[in-house]
Amino acid sequence: MNYILLGPPGAGKGTQAKKIVECFGMVHLSTGDAFREFKKFSKVLDKFLLSGHLVPDKIVITVVKKYINKKDHIGRGFLFDGFPRTIQQAKELDIILKSKNLKIDAVFLIDICFEEAIKRVMKRRVCKCGASYNTEVFYQGEVEKCNVCGCRLIQRNDDEKDIVKKRFSIYEKHLNPLIEYYRKDRTLVNINGSQNEEDIFEQIKKQINRCCLSKL
Ligand code: AMP
Repeated sequence: MNYILLGPPGAGKGTQAKKIVECFGMVHLSTGDAFREFKKFSKVLDKFLLSGHLVPDKIVITVVKKYINKKDHIGRGFLFDGFPRTIQQAKELDIILKSKNLKIDAVFLIDICFEEAIKRVMKRRVCKCGASYNTEVFYQGEVEKCNVCGCRLIQRNDDEKDIVKKRFSIYEKHLNPLIEYYRKDRTLVNINGSQNEEDIFEQIKKQINRCCLSKL
């Protein structure tokens, strides 16, 4: 079974992805994480990320194709996180999946407003090991360190306010065509992203269980 997490910056896609994968064991592909990893080797990629612009569809599709075709990913199901971001990517994904007799079973759209997105992203701190935190969990003046590896936390450089504004407006520009696309094939599930993360996860879990039951 294959699923998509859609949502603006700060919607909690990464947090939900972690929970979903722990519970259901599919392969997680965050294109954002993949590009952050690759940008060390590519100045061009770094430029896209730093400006908040989307990476060109052609590059995105090449990366996704490689990931889907990895030997140890076959047959496990995928959770696509932050992908597709454009209608072109959505169509290409369908073609790749169709060629393997697969399809998207549900698209979870976690929705939050711009003000909430900015508020959350400003409080986000990340570790190089991939862990993500909200500054509210730290005492005032406390050194912000990772619970997993002990490293000092940093702010993502594209979490700067003006870049987040840009990312949000780009997200909104592409959202309606994507909603239309996935509404047509009845896979879209709207989720109110301002609920707490456990409630959001319960809603996603119920839907995934429903999808699994319908396959029996
Ligand atoms: P994210 O971690 O999902 O917020 O993504 C961080 C950045 O990576 C975005 O602002 C884009 O520059 C790039 N990116 C991630 N996923 C995609 C995608 N599917 N298409 C184009 N660019 C992407």
